[in-house]
Amino acid sequence: MPEGLEAEIYRRAIEPVVGRDIVAIEVDDHQAMAVELGRVLPGRRIVGARRRGKHVLVDLDDDHVLGLHFGMTGRLIVDGAAAIDRLEYASGRDDPAWNRLVVTLADGEVVRVNDPRRWAVFTLDPDLSRLGPDFLTLTIDVVRDRLAGRRAALKAILLDQSVIAGFGNMCVDEVLWQAGVSPLTPAGSLDDELLGRLVEAAGEHLPAMLERGGSHTGTIDPEVRASVPPCPRDGAAMRRDTVGGRTTIWCPVHQVG
Ligand SMILES: [Zn+2]
Repeated sequence: MPEGLEAEIYRRAIEPVVGRDIVAIEVDDHQAMAVELGRVLPGRRIVGARRRGKHVLVDLDDDHVLGLHFGMTGRLIVDGAAAIDRLEYASGRDDPAWNRLVVTLADGEVVRVNDPRRWAVFTLDPDLSRLGPDFLTLTIDVVRDRLAGRRAALKAILLDQSVIAGFGNMCVDEVLWQAGVSPLTPAGSLDDELLGRLVEAAGEHLPAMLERGGSHTGTIDPEVRASVPPCPRDGAAMRRDTVGGRTTIWCPVHQVG
Protein backbone atom coordinates (compact mmCIF):
# COMPACT_ATOMS: atom_id res chain seq x y z
CA MET A 1 0.00 0.00 0.00
CA PRO A 2 2.31 2.75 -1.14
CA GLU A 3 1.47 5.97 0.69
CA GLY A 4 3.25 9.29 0.35
CA LEU A 5 6.17 8.01 2.42
CA GLU A 6 6.74 5.10 0.05
CA ALA A 7 6.53 7.52 -2.90
CA GLU A 8 9.29 9.58 -1.25
CA ILE A 9 11.40 6.44 -0.78
CA TYR A 10 10.92 5.66 -4.48
CA ARG A 11 11.79 9.26 -5.43
CA ARG A 12 15.02 8.93 -3.49
CA ALA A 13 15.75 5.65 -5.27
CA ILE A 14 15.54 7.44 -8.62
CA GLU A 15 17.89 10.28 -7.61
CA PRO A 16 21.08 8.29 -8.33
CA VAL A 17 20.03 7.89 -11.99
CA VAL A 18 19.35 11.59 -12.57
CA GLY A 19 21.59 12.61 -15.46
CA ARG A 20 21.34 9.24 -17.22
CA ASP A 21 19.83 8.68 -20.67
CA ILE A 22 16.86 6.42 -21.38
CA VAL A 23 17.62 4.00 -24.20
CA ALA A 24 14.49 1.84 -24.16
CA ILE A 25 11.24 1.35 -22.34
CA GLU A 26 8.67 -1.40 -22.06
CA VAL A 27 5.17 -0.43 -20.91
CA ASP A 28 2.27 -2.72 -20.06
CA ASP A 29 -0.14 -2.24 -22.97
CA HIS A 30 -3.02 -1.99 -20.49
CA GLN A 31 -1.68 1.49 -19.64
CA ALA A 32 -3.83 4.21 -21.24
CA MET A 33 -0.73 6.19 -22.29
CA ALA A 34 1.43 3.24 -23.34
CA VAL A 35 1.82 4.50 -26.92
CA GLU A 36 2.72 8.07 -25.94
CA LEU A 37 5.24 6.86 -23.34
CA GLY A 38 6.85 4.50 -25.83
CA ARG A 39 7.19 7.30 -28.34
CA VAL A 40 8.49 10.05 -26.04
CA LEU A 41 10.75 8.42 -23.45
CA PRO A 42 13.50 6.67 -25.44
CA GLY A 43 16.38 9.06 -26.06
CA ARG A 44 15.42 11.42 -23.25
CA ARG A 45 17.69 12.23 -20.32
CA ILE A 46 16.37 12.08 -16.75
CA VAL A 47 17.02 15.52 -15.24
CA GLY A 48 15.11 15.40 -11.95
CA ALA A 49 13.02 13.35 -9.52
CA ARG A 50 10.26 15.10 -7.59
CA ARG A 51 7.27 13.99 -5.53
CA ARG A 52 3.84 15.42 -4.83
CA GLY A 53 1.67 13.42 -2.46
CA LYS A 54 1.70 9.82 -3.68
CA HIS A 55 2.96 10.77 -7.16
CA VAL A 56 6.60 10.51 -8.23
CA LEU A 57 7.49 12.89 -11.05
CA VAL A 58 10.46 12.14 -13.28
CA ASP A 59 11.61 15.23 -15.17
CA LEU A 60 12.95 14.72 -18.69
CA ASP A 61 15.29 16.96 -20.66
CA ASP A 62 12.61 18.00 -23.19
CA ASP A 63 10.35 19.31 -20.38
CA HIS A 64 8.08 16.26 -20.48
CA VAL A 65 7.34 14.68 -17.12
CA LEU A 66 6.83 10.97 -16.44
CA GLY A 67 4.30 10.58 -13.62
CA LEU A 68 4.34 7.39 -11.56
CA HIS A 69 1.47 6.42 -9.26
CA PHE A 70 1.80 3.06 -7.57
CA GLY A 71 -1.81 2.05 -6.86
CA MET A 72 -2.21 -0.41 -4.00
CA THR A 73 0.63 -2.83 -4.71
CA GLY A 74 3.13 -1.19 -7.06
CA ARG A 75 6.82 -1.02 -6.14
CA LEU A 76 9.64 0.85 -7.79
CA ILE A 77 12.86 -1.06 -8.12
CA VAL A 78 16.20 0.23 -9.37
CA ASP A 79 18.40 -2.66 -10.53
CA GLY A 80 22.10 -2.30 -10.98
CA ALA A 81 24.72 -0.04 -9.48
CA ALA A 82 22.36 2.31 -7.67
CA ALA A 83 21.38 1.55 -4.10
CA ILE A 84 18.59 -0.96 -3.65
CA ASP A 85 16.53 -1.10 -0.50
CA ARG A 86 17.40 -4.71 0.30
CA LEU A 87 14.79 -5.07 3.01
CA GLU A 88 11.99 -3.95 0.81
CA TYR A 89 13.37 -5.90 -2.10
CA ALA A 90 13.31 -9.08 -0.05
CA SER A 91 9.94 -8.52 1.57
CA GLY A 92 7.73 -9.27 -1.40
CA ARG A 93 7.76 -11.51 -4.41
CA ASP A 94 9.30 -9.89 -7.44
CA ASP A 95 7.89 -11.82 -10.39
CA PRO A 96 9.14 -10.47 -13.74
CA ALA A 97 5.65 -11.08 -15.14
CA TRP A 98 4.49 -8.22 -12.87
CA ASN A 99 6.85 -5.66 -14.40
CA ARG A 100 4.49 -2.97 -15.76
CA LEU A 101 7.13 -0.41 -16.67
CA VAL A 102 10.76 -1.15 -17.47
CA VAL A 103 13.04 1.81 -18.22
CA THR A 104 16.49 0.80 -19.45
CA LEU A 105 19.24 3.40 -19.11
CA ALA A 106 22.35 3.90 -21.21
CA ASP A 107 24.62 2.15 -18.71
CA GLY A 108 22.37 -0.90 -18.50
CA GLU A 109 20.77 0.16 -15.24
CA VAL A 110 17.03 -0.55 -15.09
CA VAL A 111 14.27 1.37 -13.30
CA ARG A 112 11.06 -0.63 -13.17
CA VAL A 113 7.65 -0.77 -11.52
CA ASN A 114 6.55 -4.22 -10.41
CA ASP A 115 2.83 -4.48 -9.60
CA PRO A 116 0.91 -7.74 -9.16
CA ARG A 117 -2.49 -5.99 -9.12
CA ARG A 118 -1.86 -3.82 -12.17
CA TRP A 119 -3.26 -0.66 -10.51
CA ALA A 120 -0.12 1.44 -10.93
CA VAL A 121 -0.61 4.24 -13.46
CA PHE A 122 2.09 5.85 -15.63
CA THR A 123 1.29 9.20 -17.17
CA LEU A 124 3.03 11.57 -19.53
CA ASP A 125 2.73 15.12 -18.15
CA PRO A 126 0.26 14.34 -15.33
CA ASP A 127 -2.18 17.06 -14.32
CA LEU A 128 -1.73 17.43 -10.56
CA SER A 129 -3.61 20.72 -10.27
CA ARG A 130 -6.32 19.12 -8.12
CA LEU A 131 -3.92 17.79 -5.49
CA GLY A 132 -3.81 19.52 -2.13
CA PRO A 133 -0.60 20.65 -0.44
CA ASP A 134 1.90 17.93 0.35
CA PHE A 135 1.58 16.16 3.71
CA LEU A 136 5.26 16.64 4.57
CA THR A 137 4.97 20.44 4.36
CA LEU A 138 2.00 21.17 6.62
CA THR A 139 1.63 24.26 8.78
CA ILE A 140 -1.22 25.12 11.12
CA ASP A 141 -2.42 27.88 8.75
CA VAL A 142 -2.49 25.52 5.77
CA VAL A 143 -4.34 22.78 7.66
CA ARG A 144 -6.86 25.20 9.18
CA ASP A 145 -7.57 26.54 5.70
CA ARG A 146 -7.87 23.10 4.09
CA LEU A 147 -10.23 21.71 6.77
CA ALA A 148 -12.42 24.81 7.16
CA GLY A 149 -16.12 24.16 6.66
CA ARG A 150 -15.78 20.41 6.18
CA ARG A 151 -18.26 18.37 8.18
CA ALA A 152 -17.11 14.85 7.22
CA ALA A 153 -15.00 12.78 9.62
CA LEU A 154 -11.45 14.09 9.97
CA LYS A 155 -9.89 10.83 8.81
CA ALA A 156 -12.00 10.72 5.64
CA ILE A 157 -10.99 14.30 4.82
CA LEU A 158 -7.29 13.64 5.46
CA LEU A 159 -7.42 10.70 3.03
CA ASP A 160 -8.88 12.99 0.32
CA GLN A 161 -5.84 13.77 -1.85
CA SER A 162 -7.45 16.99 -3.08
CA VAL A 163 -7.47 18.32 0.50
CA ILE A 164 -3.95 17.23 1.51
CA ALA A 165 -1.80 15.01 -0.73
CA GLY A 166 0.17 12.04 0.57
CA PHE A 167 -1.75 10.54 3.48
CA GLY A 168 -2.73 6.89 3.24
CA ASN A 169 -4.55 4.74 5.75
CA MET A 170 -1.63 3.87 8.03
CA CYS A 171 -0.09 7.33 8.15
CA VAL A 172 -3.41 8.95 9.04
CA ASP A 173 -4.06 6.50 11.88
CA GLU A 174 -0.54 7.01 13.21
CA VAL A 175 -0.64 10.81 13.11
CA LEU A 176 -4.10 10.95 14.72
CA TRP A 177 -3.04 8.51 17.45
CA GLN A 178 0.15 10.46 18.13
CA ALA A 179 -1.74 13.78 18.10
CA GLY A 180 -4.51 12.50 20.36
CA VAL A 181 -7.21 13.59 17.90
CA SER A 182 -10.27 11.46 17.09
CA PRO A 183 -10.62 10.22 13.50
CA LEU A 184 -14.40 10.68 13.82
CA THR A 185 -14.44 14.38 14.73
CA PRO A 186 -15.86 16.66 12.01
CA ALA A 187 -12.80 17.94 10.12
CA GLY A 188 -13.86 21.59 10.24
CA SER A 189 -14.47 21.54 13.99
CA LEU A 190 -10.85 21.37 15.19
CA ASP A 191 -9.83 24.28 17.40
CA ASP A 192 -6.32 25.71 17.26
CA GLU A 193 -5.08 23.45 20.04
CA LEU A 194 -6.12 20.28 18.18
CA LEU A 195 -4.90 21.69 14.85
CA GLY A 196 -1.56 22.40 16.49
CA ARG A 197 -1.33 18.87 17.89
CA LEU A 198 -2.16 17.43 14.47
CA VAL A 199 0.46 19.52 12.66
CA GLU A 200 3.08 18.84 15.33
CA ALA A 201 2.47 15.07 15.19
CA ALA A 202 2.67 15.06 11.38
CA GLY A 203 5.87 17.13 11.44
CA GLU A 204 7.55 14.86 13.98
CA HIS A 205 6.36 11.36 13.16
CA LEU A 206 6.04 11.32 9.35
CA PRO A 207 9.75 12.15 8.82
CA ALA A 208 10.70 9.64 11.52
CA MET A 209 8.68 6.90 9.79
CA LEU A 210 10.25 7.86 6.49
CA GLU A 211 13.73 7.36 7.92
CA ARG A 212 12.70 4.04 9.49
CA GLY A 213 11.49 2.73 6.14
CA GLY A 214 7.88 3.79 5.56
CA SER A 215 4.28 3.92 6.65
CA HIS A 216 4.38 0.51 8.37
CA THR A 217 6.93 1.66 10.99
CA GLY A 218 4.71 3.70 13.31
CA THR A 219 3.39 2.71 16.73
CA ILE A 220 0.10 1.70 15.09
CA ASP A 221 2.00 -0.79 12.94
CA PRO A 222 0.58 -3.78 11.06
CA GLU A 223 0.86 -6.01 14.13
CA VAL A 224 -1.10 -3.53 16.28
CA ARG A 225 -3.62 -3.12 13.45
CA ALA A 226 -4.15 -6.87 13.34
CA SER A 227 -4.27 -7.58 17.07
CA VAL A 228 -5.72 -4.29 18.47
CA PRO A 229 -3.95 -4.52 21.85
CA PRO A 230 -4.64 -2.05 24.69
CA CYS A 231 -3.58 1.50 23.79
CA PRO A 232 0.23 1.71 24.17
CA ARG A 233 -0.19 5.18 25.70
CA ASP A 234 -2.91 4.70 28.33
CA GLY A 235 -3.90 1.02 28.32
CA ALA A 236 -7.47 1.73 27.20
CA ALA A 237 -9.26 -0.66 24.86
CA MET A 238 -8.53 0.54 21.32
CA ARG A 239 -11.20 0.37 18.64
CA ARG A 240 -11.27 -0.94 15.10
CA ASP A 241 -13.87 1.02 13.13
CA THR A 242 -14.51 1.79 9.49
CA VAL A 243 -14.07 5.50 8.76
CA GLY A 244 -14.03 6.92 5.26
CA GLY A 245 -14.40 3.35 4.02
CA ARG A 246 -11.09 2.32 5.61
CA THR A 247 -10.22 0.21 8.64
CA THR A 248 -9.32 2.61 11.43
CA ILE A 249 -7.45 1.76 14.63
CA TRP A 250 -7.82 4.37 17.37
CA CYS A 251 -8.09 5.01 21.10
CA PRO A 252 -11.39 6.51 22.30
CA VAL A 253 -9.76 7.68 25.56
CA HIS A 254 -6.83 9.87 24.53
CA GLN A 255 -7.97 10.69 20.97
CA VAL A 256 -10.44 13.53 21.42
CA GLY A 257 -12.26 16.15 19.38
ZN1 LIG B 1 -4.97 5.90 24.30
